[in-house]
Amino acid sequence: DDEANAYPPELNADYEVTKKTLGVGSFAVVKECIHRETKKAYALKIIMKKVIADILTKVHHPHIVSLHALYETADAVYIVTDLASGGELFKQLLDRGNYSERDAANLIQQLLEGLVYLHDQDIVHRDIKPENLLFATKEPDAKLMITDFGLSKILKHHDDILTTACGTPGYVAPEVLLQKGHGKAVDLWSVGVIMFVLLSGYTPFYGEDQAALFESIMSGKYEFDEEYWCDISDSAKSMIDALLTFDPEKRITAKEALQHPWITNDEKPSADAT
Ligand code: ADP
Ligand code: MG
Repeated sequence: DDEANAYPPELNADYEVTKKTLGVGSFAVVKECIHRETKKAYALKIIMKKVIADILTKVHHPHIVSLHALYETADAVYIVTDLASGGELFKQLLDRGNYSERDAANLIQQLLEGLVYLHDQDIVHRDIKPENLLFATKEPDAKLMITDFGLSKILKHHDDILTTACGTPGYVAPEVLLQKGHGKAVDLWSVGVIMFVLLSGYTPFYGEDQAALFESIMSGKYEFDEEYWCDISDSAKSMIDALLTFDPEKRITAKEALQHPWITNDEKPSADAT
């Protein structure tokens, strides 16, 4: 039939793809297939690259690095995107140590605006961290842009919990580690970790090794150590608590977070945290 004809001949030669669909993800369909030689059943994950590219080329927002073109050879995929020449927030964070509440609120607001846009289109980033937030230019007031979502993740099988976690796992939501969910709320958790880091200069969850770090995140427990947090507003702490809410159902959404007094400046944050 038509569908079988669409499979690559090399695949058809080794496996018979059955009509049974095991599951459907955001950009992938998983079918059952039978290894012709051994008659053993396997799962076949089909990633709809064309669909992903179609979606991502339509993503246009001031705080998101857009995809412009996509090419591929047998060995590589070539992705043309907006150029963000100001470098990573990660780098700036290392240089600055920490940020005043006003500067941090400005960055978090831009990040949230990008996320509202993505989430409205049912796109979950899943890897929000300071390495994936880039400044558009080298100017001091350059806008912040979200990069590295969707396509690159899927192409590199970042879907896999362990691969996601083995990079910089400190920003991963507990439900991802507990394999209990990967909805939009995972991005808000990461915003919470970033906000914590921007204001204090250290991460809320930590461990001697990766296993200990995972334990720390999965416990969901963190503290505002007086030594570093005594000068930071209650408003900022309440926003972090709303973002680092363990239950993803109860966690604040991107839209709600934009309305938080710490962002709207209804409660004046102290001018400088440093
Ligand atoms: P990976 O999926 O391997 O993390 P990224 O898309 O995050 O790849 O790119 C790796 C790094 O390359 C980024 O952290 C950033 O420093 C740089 N980079 C990525 N995209 C851009 C861009 N559009 N403009 C400027 N630098 C970029
Ligand atoms: Mg990256």
